[in-house]
Amino acid sequence: MDQISKQLSVVTARVRAAAAGAGRDASDIRLIAVSKTRTATEIRSLYKAGVHDFGENYLQETAPKLEVLADLDICWHFIGALQSNKTRAIANHFDWVHTVHRKKIAQRLSDARPTEQAPLNLLIQVNLDAEPQKAGIAPEALAELLHAVIPLPRVRWRGLMAIPKPVGPGSDAGKPFGQLRALFDECRSVGGEHWDTLSMGMSADFEIAISHGATLVRIGTALFGPRRS
Ligand SMILES: *Cc1c(COP(=O)(O)O)cnc(C)c1O
Repeated sequence: MDQISKQLSVVTARVRAAAAGAGRDASDIRLIAVSKTRTATEIRSLYKAGVHDFGENYLQETAPKLEVLADLDICWHFIGALQSNKTRAIANHFDWVHTVHRKKIAQRLSDARPTEQAPLNLLIQVNLDAEPQKAGIAPEALAELLHAVIPLPRVRWRGLMAIPKPVGPGSDAGKPFGQLRALFDECRSVGGEHWDTLSMGMSADFEIAISHGATLVRIGTALFGPRRS
């Protein structure tokens, strides 16, 4: 087995154990390999090992990889900061966007989604701790935003995403995940029939996220090794 397959089997075993520990079915948890800074060759190896969902943060970095990997049936997730002038390309080339937090951006993504493609899957990013360096909507403004964007025709609202602040030793690492889960449940009636996705948990904390109801975990370093920058 090559290194990347070994790391994948370690991660999937950990996902399965965390799911079992929470009384959940592991098949309800989607593993996204975060491939920023990784080469198309590394992505191809992981794809061959069985991962079909990949997350990228920068459009410029992703574009050449999309071309080289066009023969694979990859589901591409955009998980980076959204800029207005990139929405068209993102709406054309990605299947999911995890980082929507403004109505204007949602509108542009909907407008740009080609009619021959399925509606674009969207998550609203929540900034749980009002961290200024992070994107995301404040929890108290979430319901209003969701009401405003639900009618957009070319998108499908799937749920919420967050990157919680790492908690210090001695405090409850599960707390932010529990908060996001509660917001997700509160929004279900507004979110509608496709509201099924809670994107939370990365290499350092995906087991805790799973125990609090994550349905999608975004994992980079635990799969690919330490990041080159
Ligand atoms: C980079 C990144 C990840 C993956 O982080 P790891 O710690 O390498 O698992 C997940 N989510 C987002 C939004 C990221 O930018």
